[in-house]
Amino acid sequence: MIKVVKFGGSSLASGESFAKVKKIIDADPSRAIVVVSAPGKRFSGDMKVTDLLYLLQAHIKFNAPFDDIFDKIKERYIEIKNSCGLKQDLDYEFDVIASGLNKKTSVDHIVSRGEYLNARLMAEYLGYTFVDSASWLVFNYNGKVNFEKSYENLASIVEHTPHIVIPGFYGAMPDGSIKTFSRGGSDITGAIAAAAINADMYENWTDVSGIMTADPRIVDNPRPIENVTFAELRELSYMGAEVLHEETVFPVRQKSIPLYIKNTNDMNARGTLIMEKFDDEEENKNVHFITGISGKKHYSIITIAKNRMNDEVGYIRRALEVFERSGISIEHIPSSIDSFSVVVATSAIENNLHELISALNEAIAPDSIKIANDISLIAIVGRKLAANIGIAGKIFTSLGENNINIRMIEQGADEINIIIGVDDKDFKKAIRVLYNLSEVEE
Ligand code: ASP
Repeated sequence: MIKVVKFGGSSLASGESFAKVKKIIDADPSRAIVVVSAPGKRFSGDMKVTDLLYLLQAHIKFNAPFDDIFDKIKERYIEIKNSCGLKQDLDYEFDVIASGLNKKTSVDHIVSRGEYLNARLMAEYLGYTFVDSASWLVFNYNGKVNFEKSYENLASIVEHTPHIVIPGFYGAMPDGSIKTFSRGGSDITGAIAAAAINADMYENWTDVSGIMTADPRIVDNPRPIENVTFAELRELSYMGAEVLHEETVFPVRQKSIPLYIKNTNDMNARGTLIMEKFDDEEENKNVHFITGISGKKHYSIITIAKNRMNDEVGYIRRALEVFERSGISIEHIPSSIDSFSVVVATSAIENNLHELISALNEAIAPDSIKIANDISLIAIVGRKLAANIGIAGKIFTSLGENNINIRMIEQGADEINIIIGVDDKDFKKAIRVLYNLSEVEE
């Protein structure tokens, strides 16, 4: 058994949090490949080291004095070093970084130093070997990860050096220069490392006990999801659940590596397991027919009506072409015989609404176009929805009983989600009602 374990910035913010990480690693010898983020916030109002590094780069670029910021960053690592009793020569490391700083130093290079230094400290603390991600995670000239080469590189390193700490967030371009992923990208590094060595598991350690059934800012103490499939996760994330960096899933999904979300502050909490599918035994333990609920506000529903629309071949296509030409991304298209609706983010149409309507009038001459704004979309996601007869009825009844007007209903073709549209003012209430429903066991 070999696990790749990734720790996010909040799990690595101070010497105290380093100690929790060591406890987690020491508790399970299969946790052999450790991926680290840069130190995150220690308390609300604190700054992430990555943010300080972006600020540092901006100061350098605009010739502003930057010593204070540089010292602040240095202090963060000195605190960790001292608190963990490490010997790492940080003065040397910071001299190297300082001597490479000038107006031409790339932003990617500067911000990558956050994870680089943290990985150096963590490697010493755990007694593992530090492996720079610039030495194995490689990008093509087009900026996309060269998976084949990266996998090969890391697999051969791990063959000789089985216990390593690697910095997340960055790799190297073919010319050796540093390239970072987008923000939160250490998740991706972990996934690539797991795929590279065909790990038995990828554990992503953060500061919550897994993915919650609903947004904890809306529902008090929601239940963590125990098991979620990759397909369900995609639906939940698309509708706003913030879990992992989007690109994380691909490498582990492709290699069928189970992915756990775990809590550094509660190491024995089970967390959430994400897999392609679960075996029957596991499924039978799952008594909830709703896996999770997520949603977003500020959509618009554009309803286009035309008598005998059904007889006009190509009518909807011509309407959709108008949206395409305007570069408007469409979320849903619920339809009936003589009308159909197009659901879009309000932000996508608010500045060009008049042009859009006149283009639609010209292209399809509808009888009417009606626009409803301030709509929230809520996804009720569950791989068991399809097998449970009457779920939709329960959903609509409970919303109705709570005086929530349903403005739109859609069910995904694979039946793992039901999307409903409600007024923005009912958004939170609807999520709470649906959460209570999700607590009911089948
Ligand atoms: N440190 C980087 C960030 O704050 C990458 C990461 O933590 O995943 O975005």
